[in-house]
Parts: sequence; C-alpha cells; structure tokens
Amino acid sequence: MNDKLEGKVALVTGGARGIGAAIARRLHAEGAAVAITDILSDAGQALAAELGPRAAFFHHDVGDETAWIDAMAAVTATFGRLDILVNNAGIFHPGEIAQTAAADVEHQFRINQLGVFLGMKHGQVPLRAAGGGCIINISSIAGQLGFPGAAAYVGTKWAVRGMTKTAALELAPLHIRVNSVHPGFIDTPMLENNPPEANQAGLEATPLKRIGKPEEIAAAVAFLSGPDAGFITGAELTVDGGWIL
Ligand code: NAD
Repeated sequence: MNDKLEGKVALVTGGARGIGAAIARRLHAEGAAVAITDILSDAGQALAAELGPRAAFFHHDVGDETAWIDAMAAVTATFGRLDILVNNAGIFHPGEIAQTAAADVEHQFRINQLGVFLGMKHGQVPLRAAGGGCIINISSIAGQLGFPGAAAYVGTKWAVRGMTKTAALELAPLHIRVNSVHPGFIDTPMLENNPPEANQAGLEATPLKRIGKPEEIAAAVAFLSGPDAGFITGAELTVDGGWIL
C-alpha cells in the first residue's frame, strides 16, 4: 500500500463494520490516522484496537447535533487536526410508500440526510482550521435512479447527492473539496434488509454479474481523499459494476 495519506487525519462515520470499516482500514493503510465513529461501540473499539495507535474509536450518533460537536472535539484533541471526513453512516429500511410509516421516513432522514448535513456543518470547522481538506459523502445508486419499494431511502440518497454539489460550491473558496460516492449492491450486513428476490434482481441488473466488495468502495474513497483527486470537487463517483448505465 502507498503512503499518499501520511500525516492526514480522517474521520469515518459508521466505521465499525461494512463499507465504513473497509474505508477506515484503507485510509489507515495509506498512512492516515483514523477516527472511527459509530453507535456500535464493541465493533468500533475492536477495529481501532486492531489498527493500533494511529486509530481511535468514538461513540457518535450522526443524527444528533451535540454528538457531532463532541466528536469534532474528540478527534482534534486526539489527533490534533482533521483533513478527511467520510460521511458513511446510513440505514436502509425498504418499504412501499403506502406501507411506510412517517416515523420510519423521519428515522432514515435523520441518519442518512441530516447526519450528512451535520457532518458538513461541523466537520468544516476543523477542516478550515487545517487550511482545507475534503469531504466524501456516501450516497448510493439509489441517489441516481428510482427504486420501487424504497422511496424513503432513495429520497435521502438523492438529497446527499444534491447537498454534495451545493457544499462543493460553498466550500471551494475554503479549499475543501466535496464529492459523493455511489455504490451499487455491496456485500455488507445492509443487504440483509432486502428481500432475497430484490438482491437477486440487483445481481441480474449488474453487468459485471457480481456483488461489489466493501474494499472496492474504500478504494474509490481513498482516491478521492488523496492528492490525485486534487482538482475533483462536486463529482459523483459511481462504483456499481455498471448497473446504472
Ligand atoms: P452497514 O449496515 O453494514 O453499516 C452501516 C454502519 O452505520 C453500521 O456500522 C451502523 O452501526 C452505522 N450507523 C447506523 N446508524 C448510525 C448512526 N445513527 N450514527 C452512527 N453510525 C450509525 O451498511 P453498509 O452497507 O456498510 O453501508 C454504509 C453506507 O453505504 C450507507 O450510507 C449505505 O446507505 C451506503 N450504501 C450501501 C450499499 C450496499 O449495498 N451495502 C449500497 C449503496 C449505498
């Protein structure tokens, strides 16, 4: 692995498992110090312990604004700065519109959409103090297409895409790049929320005829975090085996 991120400090939300854990591992392997945040304390602490002294875990609910203020204080107290913020935490509750309770829509909004908004609001403070940096928001191909049976989730992921482009414009003068990554179906516990026939349909809709690996999303995030992406902002990087073509 290269050392393109040496000296950088990254924060990955929802980093205890799945795609977030793969991102934390990859950024760490490229030399960054990594703050892993999640509501799953045991798994998050275990990953931080495995990675060693350049990693730390902080309990952090992304839908809670006070928790964001605390997380920023914790990461800067521990590592001194922040250069890379990955807004990855998310939940997926499928359901047709007629059967979905308003409370469930609000729950998905709070974590997937408000959580990303709060990350960009509070994350930009240490990023500005560091003289710039980058934010990577994990959306989905559900932020680029319609998916029957998942309107609440789809709404949050389209919102992440729109907020990313707006933040890219707003934060460019501060030398903060903001991009979104759009995974197709990736092999994580999240897919267990899908009915098996939906996962089978996803596989069939994927020209490369396989489910993606969390490490393949982590590679895209590492690219967008590093110096090779220095002129890329407001972009959406789709990593989906060709699904949306
Ligand atoms: P996952 O369920 O394996 O991991 C999500 C992580 O987010 C978990 O560790 C969970 O504890 C954490 N989390 C949930 N609520 C939280 C909260 N309130 N505060 C902090 N952390 C919280 O799912 P994943 O597949 O790794 O998903 C990661 C991201 O990728 C999500 O934003 C998801 O929408 C997106 N995504 C996943 C897929 C896929 O096929 N797996 C496809 C497209 C997009």
